[in-house]
This record gives sequence, structure tokens and C-alpha cells, in this order.
Amino acid sequence: MTPIIEAKGLSKKFVKRLDFAGKIAQRLGAGIHEEVVHAVDDVSLAINPGEVVGLVGESGCGKSTLGRMIAGILPQTAGSVLLDGKDTAEMNGSEQKAAALAVQMIFQDPFASLNPRMRVEQIIGEAPLVHGLTDRAGIKDYVDETMLKVGLDPALKQRYPHQFSGGQRQRIGIGRALAVKPRFLVCDEAIAALDVSIQAQVLNLFMDLREQFELTYLFISHDLSVVEHIADRIVIMYLGRVVEAARTEALFEDPQHPYTRALLAEVPRLDQRKRDFTPIVGEIPSPLNPPTGCHFHPRCPHVMPVCKAEVPMLSERNNSRLVSCHLDEGGAD
Ligand code: SF4
Repeated sequence: MTPIIEAKGLSKKFVKRLDFAGKIAQRLGAGIHEEVVHAVDDVSLAINPGEVVGLVGESGCGKSTLGRMIAGILPQTAGSVLLDGKDTAEMNGSEQKAAALAVQMIFQDPFASLNPRMRVEQIIGEAPLVHGLTDRAGIKDYVDETMLKVGLDPALKQRYPHQFSGGQRQRIGIGRALAVKPRFLVCDEAIAALDVSIQAQVLNLFMDLREQFELTYLFISHDLSVVEHIADRIVIMYLGRVVEAARTEALFEDPQHPYTRALLAEVPRLDQRKRDFTPIVGEIPSPLNPPTGCHFHPRCPHVMPVCKAEVPMLSERNNSRLVSCHLDEGGAD
């Protein structure tokens, strides 16, 4: 099966250039340099049609940056993104336009991502009109249908975003994405800003839409418990790198990477059997000055001398998962 989306060796560096005073100070011999953040470091990931992949890690691990590169709204420093097996950088103009519609992104803060001066009718209807998915005569019906699909009352389409609740605003954001008939959605902390009682409703909406429109998702979250019930597969990131990737059940049953185990310790469970992991200690290090070797070594309870010197390769374990750790096959005990 050709993956719908494939990231190959994706990296992203952000360079903070020196300001005028900094350049002068540098010329005068002060030991200051441009600061480089390696937000994403050589990440490869393939997602098959219909799959839901959860991308999980702490804030600052690079998961949103990776999602934005996959969605085509942030250029990568190195590597490539393939849609249906074709490198998006090698597509011609019309192919690139089709790719931009096929892959849509849903953001964490629906209020910040919706234009406060536009009515819902414009927010949802603008892109389909521009891209010829409907014409002026059909736009009202088109918007009504889209609002119904995401559980909004079309009678409210003349309202502005601030006149809706948080959950409704996220539905508007989902409607805006859905209106251009995408096949792949990158959902970046799409329920994190919502009340707990509303989160489940919006998650259910995502799952209904997946079935109805055969959508594929990359679901980005800092919270493993959010993706547990919706993801077929989970990818764990730490400081710009993938540290473990496995089917959801396998990851929860038998996590191999010490960081995955630490994340699982944070997940409240009725089944106490699965709570015997050590909670994570300390803060995620600054990506400006990441630890040598395995980035996780300052926080890892199993750290060995080799961990500080060599980057562990992401390799297959037990034919069932990818793990990046120097501990022997069989995992951390
Ligand atoms: Fe811990 Fe070493 Fe594995 Fe990194 S490579 S997670 S420091 S045991």
C-alpha cells in the first residue's frame, strides 16, 4: 500500500540571527554566535490511508513543527514530504494546489485561528469558492451542509466566532478544513484548549468524520490518554527525534523506551497494573543546547556511559515496533 503521507528524513532548524549590537560585539571578539534550534531532527514517518497516527511528546519536543511541515505550511530545512508517493517539492503547480487542499491542519486554539471579523459563512465558504468547489449560487447550501456535518446549526452562519463557545469554535475550524474536501488532517492539540466535558464530543466528531469521509489523521497531543482511544499507531517524540513507534495496544501493553514508560506513568488508569512506571523527572532540556548522545539521558533512570556519547539508532524490536535506545532488546527493566 502506498502511504498517503510519508515524511523522509525531515529536519527543521530555526536560526536566531544576531542583531546589530550582536554583530558589532562579535566583531569586537565577544564569543557570541547565531543560535540554532534543531526543532526536528531527521524524522521519517509513513501514514497509510485511513490510519490514525498519534504523535505524542512534551511541549517543545518538535511535534507541532513536524506536523506543520507535513501539512506543507512550514518549509523543512532537510528531507522531503511525499503525498501518495510523490514528493511535494517536485509537483507542478496544479498538483501542488491539489496537495494543499488534500492536506489540512486543525489548530489548538480555534479562537486564534479564526478571523474575528469574518462571519462563519465566510470562514467556511471562502476557500471552496476560491478553489471552485462550489459557485456563488451554491455557496449558501454548501456552507449549510458543511455546518451540519460538524454538528453546527446553519441558522448561526451569520454570527462571528466570538459569539460561539470554545467547542463550537473548534467545530467551525473543523468545518473550514472539511469544506475543501481534504483526505488527510493534521490535528495539532485540537482538543487541548477545550473543557474536558467537550473534549470527548469533539473526539467523537473526529472519529465520525473519519468513517464518513474516509479521512486519515495525524493527531498531535502532549497527552497519551487523548490518543489512546483513537489512534491505530502512536509515535513518541523527544527533543526533535522519534524515540518509539508502535501499534497503540502494543505501546500501552509493553512500552520499551524509558521515555514512553515515563509518559505512561502520567496516564491515569483504572488498571493499576500498568502504573508501575517511574514518573518523568525534570524539565525537557533546551533545544538550543540539547544533551549529547541520547537526548533523554539527563532524565533517564537507566542511563549508561554509552548513552552520553552515542545517538541510539531507531531500530526494529520484536518485529513490532521501532525503538531508539541503547538498552538491550527486551526493553528497560
Ligand atoms: Fe536511557 Fe540510554 Fe536508552 Fe537514552 S539510550 S533512553 S539514556 S537507556
